[in-house]
Amino acid sequence: MSDEHYLKRELYQQVQKSADLFEFIQAGSLDGIWYWDLENPEHEWMSPRFWQIFGYDPTAMPHLASAWQDMINTDDLAMALENFQAHCDNPNHPYDQVVRYRHKEGKTIWVRCRGIAIRDAEGKPIRMLGAHTDITELKEAEYALQQKTDELTLSNQQLEQLAYITAHDLQEPIRGIVTFLDLLARESQSNLNETAQNYLQLAMGEAGLMRAMVHDILALAQVNADSSLAEKVDLERLIKTVEQDLKNHSSFKAYTIERDKLPVIRGHSKILLLLLKNLINNGLKFNLSDQPQVRIDAEKTEGGWKISVSDNGIGIEEKYADRIFKMFQRLHSRSQFPGTGIGLAIAQAVVTRHGGELQFTSELGVGTTFFFTIPNE
Ligand code: ADP
Repeated sequence: MSDEHYLKRELYQQVQKSADLFEFIQAGSLDGIWYWDLENPEHEWMSPRFWQIFGYDPTAMPHLASAWQDMINTDDLAMALENFQAHCDNPNHPYDQVVRYRHKEGKTIWVRCRGIAIRDAEGKPIRMLGAHTDITELKEAEYALQQKTDELTLSNQQLEQLAYITAHDLQEPIRGIVTFLDLLARESQSNLNETAQNYLQLAMGEAGLMRAMVHDILALAQVNADSSLAEKVDLERLIKTVEQDLKNHSSFKAYTIERDKLPVIRGHSKILLLLLKNLINNGLKFNLSDQPQVRIDAEKTEGGWKISVSDNGIGIEEKYADRIFKMFQRLHSRSQFPGTGIGLAIAQAVVTRHGGELQFTSELGVGTTFFFTIPNE
């Protein structure tokens, strides 16, 4: 007791001397105290507040264990009695649990119920002292929050599904429009006057953009739909695919891609490919240098890997830091730099899906580095 705070020691003495002080503690700081005679298990003293919490007039309630055992949820009673037995057998097993009681009016009252056995000289429990804390408000708030979260998750899933179905079903008519515009251009180019030819070109451009958008929306919807993240993915192999794609299908000229050896990580290869493709593509696209360069570095960190994609491009102003990750948000006109405005939204979704973070640093006119973390499991 000597290393106890002197005020605690003093308080103990005061409580021993004064019943008023004990009254104050039991009425003011707890939602009920109970004191149980284990030698006469039907006998149990409950403080007035014990009953008030459940909507009863304390003066009308008997000091009997059966009184509360009739009101407690039966499953919770079984759990509490099991804990009680374990605590009696072994003082180190805490008697501490959350149980549900039925309020007089019918609603559920959540109580954290803790207790300690008082033992005789042989260690046999003869009394049990316990305390209630009413945590109903906390539980109700938790429940309301869970319901809101469930609703939001559901409406998010529904929105994602709507986006997916819409984009999926738009593919076919768009393919048709592109095909017929192509045919029209081939068939009647010479019969059309300059204005009409112009319109046709513009229509073909718009149809192409629509096709790219639908393609990217589908890709974004698939990031969250594909569930397995358990594949071993060789990022080295993915980068080679991106490099090959750039060679075969892009119009970028005189560019170089330098890189570290990239690691094998755990994740989903299809969507990781989208991530690398978008970052590398952007590095070369938003670039006015005669020799566009992208550098990819991989660094082992405490929790996993940090991968960065740096370019010597136009840079991004700090104030647009949030905007660029939002869908359809672009900082330039399409005539300057083509694109759908969905690439970074996809990249961010892929990184988030893998439990990492995507960020960037940039200097206008010098270049940008996007970096993401991928945790090791
Ligand atoms: P998109 O490339 O189709 O325009 P993104 O979502 O990939 O769409 O990028 C959003 C915007 O962020 C781009 O329009 C561009 O303004 C900016 N941005 C992205 N990557 C870079 C980069 N490496 N350098 C400079 N600006 C970039």
